[in-house]
This record gives sequence, structure tokens and C-alpha cells, in this order.
Amino acid sequence: MSKGNIYIISGPSGSGKDTILKEVLKVKKDVFFSISHITRAMRTGEVEGEKYHFISREEFEQQLANNMFLEYNEYSGNYYGTPKAPIEQHLAAGDDVLIECDVNGAEALRKLLPGALSVFIMPPSFEVLKKRLVGRGTETAEQVEKRMKEALNEIRRADEYDYIVVNDDLSLAVEDFITVLKSNKLLLKNQKYLIDEVLKNA
Ligand code: 5GP
Repeated sequence: MSKGNIYIISGPSGSGKDTILKEVLKVKKDVFFSISHITRAMRTGEVEGEKYHFISREEFEQQLANNMFLEYNEYSGNYYGTPKAPIEQHLAAGDDVLIECDVNGAEALRKLLPGALSVFIMPPSFEVLKKRLVGRGTETAEQVEKRMKEALNEIRRADEYDYIVVNDDLSLAVEDFITVLKSNKLLLKNQKYLIDEVLKNA
């Protein structure tokens, strides 16, 4: 059986990574998306348990004390954490796992999971990023300003990733992302089991 692979995905607010991941998950049904626990307020249109579990700061701190997270970070004043147990279960079952997190989370995960591949979702330009962020209208002007600062910091660290997928045209970006998943699957290190399988009855 092939082993599950771990993909770490980051990209600044407004890069369109959520839309890309949604489209990818529609096609790649065998991939598990890790649902983070977060303390920020729910935005209009968000659904509990879809991308995030929305919990209080007290609950988060309790879970942190119970060592439930693989990594966590404080971003724009809120906690975001990747729960350990579901990832361990899916990897044990041989599933691929997608973990979305910010650049600090990605740095922590690379140390913990050296086999993981990381993908950075890049906006075509900084102007487009700002336009998208302002245009979606889910943040106040002050929050947009804060997120633009975070975005600059994140883009500066994009060279820490294995792949960059530019999100200019959504369908191309989705195709590129799926190509990353496919090319990784084809690597020898992920297909060694095939050699034994084919030779088994030789
Ligand atoms: P947003 O509030 O826009 O949904 O997310 C803010 C940032 O937190 C994004 O960069 C997103 O990728 C990141 N993020 C989401 N989940 C996690 C997580 O579990 N851990 C970390 N470190 N960052 C996360």
C-alpha cells in the first residue's frame, strides 16, 4: 500500500488558497483536510466544522495544555492550531493529509514532519492581493491593514517552500496544485512498495 503524504499549504490572506483547496478537495476525494481549531470570530458564510472548529480562548488554552496540537500560532490576535489525533489516524490509514497554516506553523511542521511537502499560494501581485482583501468585505479597515502587513511577511518567506502556485487564474492554479500532488505520488520514494509488489510473483 502507498503511504500517506503530508502537504503543508500557506499563502497570505486574499491569496485565494481556500478557494483552491475547496476545488482540489472536490476532485481529490481521497485526501484528508485537517480542520484547525481557532479562536477568531466566525465570518459570514463560514460553517462550523467545515474548515475550522471555532472555540473559545479558554478551550484552546485547555487543549494546548493537554498537548492536543501538532503546532499552533497566534495570528492577528487569535489562536490557530492543528489538532494531532485526526492527522495521525489518517496517516495510519494511508491517506494523504493537507494542513493549511501560516508561515510560522509551516516552519514548525517541517521540523516535526521532515517528509512533508510544502506549497505556497502566491497572489499574482501585491495590488491584486489588497484588492481581493478589501473586496471581500469580511474585515474592518484596521484588520485589512494588519493582514496586509502579515501578507508582506509571509511573501518574504515564500522561499522556504518546495512549490509556489500562483493564483491568477483559479482553474490553472487548481490544476497546478493537483500536478504537485500527482508528481509527488510518482516519486520513487513514494512508490518503492510497487517494486516489491511487481516482483512478488516473478
Ligand atoms: P484566516 O483567519 O484568514 O482564516 O487565517 C489566518 C491565517 O491562519 C492564515 O494564514 C491561515 O493559513 C492560518 N491558519 C489556519 N489554520 C492554521 C493552523 O492550524 N495553524 C497555523 N499556524 N496557522 C493556521
